[in-house]
Parts: sequence; C-alpha cells; structure tokens
Amino acid sequence: MARIYNFSAGPAVLPEEVLKEAAEEMLDFRNTGMSVMEMSHRSKAFEEIIGEAEKTLRDLMHIPDNYKVLFLQGGASQQFAMIPMNLMKNRAADHINTGQWAKKAIAEGKIYGRINVIASSEDKTFSYIPDLKNLKISDDADYVYICHNNTIYGTKFNDLPETCGKTLVADMSSDILSEPVDVTKYGIIFAGAQKNIGPAGVVVVIIREDLITDDVLPGTPTMLKYKTHADNKSLYNTPPAYGIYICGKVFQWVQRLGGLEAMKKRNEEKAAVLYDYLDSSKLFKGTVAKKDRSLMNVPFVTGSEELDAKFVKESKAAGFENLKGHRTVGGMRASIYNAMPIEGVQRLVDFMKKFEEENQ
Ligand code: PMP
Repeated sequence: MARIYNFSAGPAVLPEEVLKEAAEEMLDFRNTGMSVMEMSHRSKAFEEIIGEAEKTLRDLMHIPDNYKVLFLQGGASQQFAMIPMNLMKNRAADHINTGQWAKKAIAEGKIYGRINVIASSEDKTFSYIPDLKNLKISDDADYVYICHNNTIYGTKFNDLPETCGKTLVADMSSDILSEPVDVTKYGIIFAGAQKNIGPAGVVVVIIREDLITDDVLPGTPTMLKYKTHADNKSLYNTPPAYGIYICGKVFQWVQRLGGLEAMKKRNEEKAAVLYDYLDSSKLFKGTVAKKDRSLMNVPFVTGSEELDAKFVKESKAAGFENLKGHRTVGGMRASIYNAMPIEGVQRLVDFMKKFEEENQ
C-alpha cells in the first residue's frame, strides 16, 4: 500500500491514524456487531459518538456554554443562505469581499436583503486582506461577515474587523482547528468538514444561543432553521452519522497532538518550509501579501503558464497529488491542512528545488 502526498484543497488528506482506527472498527464498532454506517442514529452507541465529538470540539476550541455546536448538512454553501434566513431582522448585512467564497456568500445574501460590501481586495486579485481600520459598519447591519481563510487565494485574517457591537459571522471552512480562536468574538463560526475536520457531508456550526430564535425570515424551511437543529441536538433528522464519527476521531487526534496551540506551532513550522523556499526561489513565487499568508493554502506560480503546467504534470508523476491551482486562478496551490505531515512539505520543496534546477 502506498499513500501519496495529497495537497488537495478539499476533500483533503486525513490523519492516517484516524483512517486506520476507522478501518479497524469498520465491521464491528465497539462490540455492537455493526459498522457506524449501519446503526440507528437514535442508538446508544451513536448518541455516544456524537456526544463525544461535541465534547472534544468544545474542549479543543474552549467553546463557552452559551454556544451550541451543530452538526449539519448542505455543505458550507448552505450556510450562505441559512445565515441571512436566520439572522436578518433588518434585511441588511455588511460583508468583506476577500475571494470566491466570500463572493458566493454575498450573492446568496442578496437574495434575502441588502448586502453592503464594506471592504474588498478584488482590485488585486484577492492577494491581500483589506485594511480593517475605519470600516463603515452600517447602522442597520444584522451582522458582519468574513471568510476567515480564503482557500483559493491563500489569504487569512490575522486580525478581526471592529464590528461596533454587531455580530461577527465567520466562514472557517479552510482553517478551523489550525490555530486557537477566541470563540467569544463571533456570533457564528461555521466550517465544512472536508478540509481540517473530516469527510465531506458534515458542516460544523458554532452559534451563540441568542442567535437561535423562531424569528426567521418568512418561508424559511424547517430544516434551515438553526432552532430546529439546536432543539434536537443535531438529531432532528438523520444526521451524516458516519461523517460525524470520523470528525470525532479527528478531534481526538488533534487533542492527542496537544490541542490548538500545538497545531498552530506545527502549522507555522510546516508553512515556513514552503514560504521560505518560495521567498528564496528564482523560479517560483508566492502570490499573496506576506502579512496575510494562509497557513493552510499556499498558492504559487512560475510566471509561465507552460512551466506551471509542466510542474503540475511532473509533480503528479512524482507522487504529489492535486497541486494544480483552482480553475479560476491557475498556477499551483499546495493545501497543507493539519493532517499533512511536515515531511510531505519537505519532500515537495525538495522536488521544487530539483524542478528549478532543471528549468533555469
Ligand atoms: N467556504 C470556503 C472557505 C471553502 O473553501 C469552501 C469549499 N472549498 C466552501 C465555503 C464551500 O463548501 P461546500 O462545498 O462544503 O459547500
């Protein structure tokens, strides 16, 4: 069996330990005589699985008691609609536009209300995070929305906007659990699981209790009300049970590695291997303002489309998978989520050095 180095932006590499554990438990989970895929979501065994997953996540992120943790479906994209449906009382929200996923949330929000784009980095192909000082927060904004880590462009927020008391909502799909966060600064944090948490099909929503109400936009389906899921502990309908089980295992894996402080250190060391090389290379260049560089998604280019294509092809042949940049931006991108070992990045840099020598 040969596992390759998978630099996919998502679904992405998972910890090998987790996959092995799941394999061991596949036919008979804890003496139930069945796999987690086959058991009732109302069973005692599954109650324990979801309960443990929530508890471990709460411990890892120090989630206060006045926040609910929900395991939902519909992808992170469904949150682009659920957020306005549940939070828009004045039918207005302030958004910061930092890339494709931020734009999709803006477009979806516009179906329900007035979206004010209070800052944007579109002028320079989203290669930086806009200045967060002196933002004009709208008086009637129901919330302020950011995409905390921009998967496609490789930027991340190192500071948060001053929201003048408005609820801050953050899409953390591509950097949740990569470093500690102060949950109390947010009203909602959400993340699709398929990057740092587990398999596709699960979305984790961490939401402050006062935002969970029946006062939602007219026509909001039952399934799209946070209250439905909060009242039923994410078991209103059949949840993505197997996915939640794997998420729980990933949470425990992060805990075994020392939690989010340790994860941050590990991610900084890992990203530095790649960024340091990009900064010294005469062929490859990072595309992002240094101060805003993501620890998770690292885009880079050679400056020649032909060489980019050659690199992607040769890297694949050498066992480095999914290094092609997003179809909308081209170039290359290495996604180096929590589960990517540092050796993977070191090997990639060795390969890039060799490619540079051969293509001077
Ligand atoms: N937000 C971000 C930051 C993402 O990277 C992605 C997916 N790559 C999404 C939202 C959309 O996620 P999903 O496919 O789960 O709807």
